[in-house]
Amino acid sequence: MNKEQKAKIKDLLLKKREEVTEQMSRMMKDGSVGKSQKDVSGDLSGYSLHMADQATDNFDREMQYGYATTEQKMLYEIDAALARLKEKSFGECVSCGSEIPLKRLMAVPHAKLCIKCQEQEDKNPRTNE
Ligand SMILES: [Zn+2]
Repeated sequence: MNKEQKAKIKDLLLKKREEVTEQMSRMMKDGSVGKSQKDVSGDLSGYSLHMADQATDNFDREMQYGYATTEQKMLYEIDAALARLKEKSFGECVSCGSEIPLKRLMAVPHAKLCIKCQEQEDKNPRTNE
């Protein structure tokens, strides 16, 4: 993948991120998002204490991911894709290592699996293993 293609994907990811964030803030106004989520964003002073402890932070993040809404999970996937974008391995399937077609990345910029592995995952979710 060349520089221009990566820049294009980054653009798509950032746009998508904005959409999802907007959706989430709308939902928060409606009050349909749990109170704990508001507490996290509202009380950063308490949260930053834990930030120093990387292990705890990762644990919290995983815990939150487990209870996350579709939008929160999407945001997580987008952030993960943005992080991967900085690495050379971006555009490779995280499962089999083969290249994810650019067409797929343009449609689903946060995709981390190639079509073949995605189909496999859809057919056999990891929880059934
Ligand atoms: Zn694959």
